[in-house]
Amino acid sequence: MPELPEVEVTRLSFADRIRGATIGHLRLGKPLRWPLGVDPLSLTGRRVRQVDRRGKYLLMHLDAGCLLWHLGMSGALHFAPNQPSPGPHDHVDLETDRGTLRLHDPRRFGALVYVDGLHDARAIRLLGGLGVEPLGGAFDPLAFHAALRQRRAPIKQVLLAGDIVVGVGNIYASEALFKAGIRPTTAACRISKPRAARLHDAIVQVLSRALEVGGSTLRDFSNARGESGYFQLEMSVYDRAGEPCAQCQTPIRQIRQGQRSTFFCPTCQKP
Ligand SMILES: [Zn+2]
Repeated sequence: MPELPEVEVTRLSFADRIRGATIGHLRLGKPLRWPLGVDPLSLTGRRVRQVDRRGKYLLMHLDAGCLLWHLGMSGALHFAPNQPSPGPHDHVDLETDRGTLRLHDPRRFGALVYVDGLHDARAIRLLGGLGVEPLGGAFDPLAFHAALRQRRAPIKQVLLAGDIVVGVGNIYASEALFKAGIRPTTAACRISKPRAARLHDAIVQVLSRALEVGGSTLRDFSNARGESGYFQLEMSVYDRAGEPCAQCQTPIRQIRQGQRSTFFCPTCQKP
């Protein structure tokens, strides 16, 4: 599943090139997770302004209205002056005078949604519940601790929910909790201020590192149509069940939390 760093690198791969383009035609293939919400013909002639990101949504501002893109479980966006004929998994082509932005999405959990503006009811439904951006100045350790104090759920699930801080998906949550020395099953409200501060730093480090690695492979990534895998990060615990912890040699343990796999070191990560 594309996570925040992958979505940000996707944005960087085309945002500058599509800015100022005029939309010619929007071709829609098979239905995606949500309907577009407007007659595609009404978009012809509109101009693309900047492309921003909020959580895992790309916000493509137009001279009137905004297109929200989401990559879902398996989506990849690729912008090119000339695209080959659409394949069976290419479900959206946004054709402009500068090239075509194509959404390739085998599992079709992705979406393209039109809203008149970000205060539109539909936009608020999709974006309104999102927590702060982890890599912006708004992510503050004290506010983070205060928010965790309100939650009794296990810390990993609180991170995945995305309503305190966005973008900490399954892999990044496991890795950040390892860095911070916190057991993923620990109730969020039991995490002390210093531990919350360590977790805050670990989240920023893990996501920044993923962006850095993604940025360095930007060309490969934007060329790799349909292969929206994770960046090749050095994993400390994720997907390493049974292997020795790099810090203490204890075998990494794997558990299930809310249908998702969690990996941790039972020695280095304290409840
Ligand atoms: Zn360990």
